Amino acid sequence: MEDSLSIRLEPSDAESLPLGRLLQLAERRLLEGKVLDRASRSKLYGGRWRRLDVRPERVRDLAQLQALPYTDANHWLAAQGSGSIARFVAERARLWVSSRSNARKWVPIGEADLRRMMGLALRLSAMIGLGPSERILAITEPAPRIGNCVPYFWVMADMVAGGLHLEMIPGSVTMLGRNNWPEFAAGRRPQVLWGHIDDVQALADTLCAAGKDPAALYPDLRVLLCFGAPLEPKRVDLHRLFGTNPISCYLSAELPYLQAECAPGAGIHLWLDVTIPEIIPTSELCKEREVPGYVPKALFITDAPDGVAGEYVVTTFGQSLPLIRYRSGDRIQLVSKGTCACGRTHPRVQVLGRITDGSSMQLMIRMDP
Ligand SMILES: [Zn+2]
Repeated sequence: MEDSLSIRLEPSDAESLPLGRLLQLAERRLLEGKVLDRASRSKLYGGRWRRLDVRPERVRDLAQLQALPYTDANHWLAAQGSGSIARFVAERARLWVSSRSNARKWVPIGEADLRRMMGLALRLSAMIGLGPSERILAITEPAPRIGNCVPYFWVMADMVAGGLHLEMIPGSVTMLGRNNWPEFAAGRRPQVLWGHIDDVQALADTLCAAGKDPAALYPDLRVLLCFGAPLEPKRVDLHRLFGTNPISCYLSAELPYLQAECAPGAGIHLWLDVTIPEIIPTSELCKEREVPGYVPKALFITDAPDGVAGEYVVTTFGQSLPLIRYRSGDRIQLVSKGTCACGRTHPRVQVLGRITDGSSMQLMIRMDP
């Protein structure tokens, strides 16, 4: 039995393993971790797989994963909304968070999931080069969003296994103007500002309206870490306002793994040791839209050509509710599968936005190479 305070630390050399080794690791985790067996206990997958005569036990390697159907937000909402919520979770939840979108998807997070999130928070600390006793100003989101709790897990992970003695100063947009947290945080001279991009912008707007210069208020800031939406077209403005070039972080209730850029504009490293990412190219998405009943084909991100854009599809080895070929609704573009300048071998992507409706599909066609 695991120690109650142990954190799931991924292998320290996993960040720079050759791609082939990473794929072997992912395949082993998928199969030996009995992820599909666990997933089939949730009504999100089980009933639908049986109706479609899908046999997860026949999946013997990574390639065969693609024989399983996609899962999307509609499946999620239907499964969550019908009957007992106990049959929605694959294994017991210790924490529930909800998606940011209007149609609320509730996400169960189990103990092993929390340990993994905390381990990946430590990986993020290392990736952004945090040093001993550095300080993070975190703009938390209101509960039940994932951005409500991540900063606390981050600092607890450091406390238990990170050893940097990080200091976390939480603030929230709700308390802007009702509490002096921006000024208090300034007194602690944070090196990192973390938050949803809209909240980071709201902080800047509030400070500017009060005649304060964000860059002057936080002179030691060197990492501006934004999640929730693409940095473009706000990147230049945020850089000017805070005096540091922002970096992008991928964080959602469904995928709370704090995947981030190692440097501004480098692209978000998708962790191949904890996820199996795929991409449905734009051409396939267009065909799906035009041909009723057409099921678009996805490529493993490691098989996709650099530069390809499309929908991010992800499989995780989660405990309480693994994601199995989950269509995120996010548009990404593969920056590169090549080894990054930072030495990490995990592919890098940019997030381009959401796939929401026909108009964004038009935009997609116009924008994509
Ligand atoms: Zn990198």
